Amino acid sequence: MMTCALCHRPAPAEIDAAIDDGWIPSYYCGRQQMPGPVCPDCCKKHLRIGKDGEWETIAPPADAHRWN
Ligand SMILES: [Zn+2]
Repeated sequence: MMTCALCHRPAPAEIDAAIDDGWIPSYYCGRQQMPGPVCPDCCKKHLRIGKDGEWETIAPPADAHRWN
């Protein structure tokens, strides 16, 4: 089962349903692409859309692993 990479909440089994709910497949931490998925709540709390239109961490890369 897929779980949120940040809070470990279970993702919907159907990928289409997950995307409809606002889950994203991956995100960037600095220049590094990180594996997802990430749930909609964590997107709101920890991620933003960067200049390139990609999801990226709001925190600087050095701090971005501290999700709680
Ligand atoms: Zn989450």
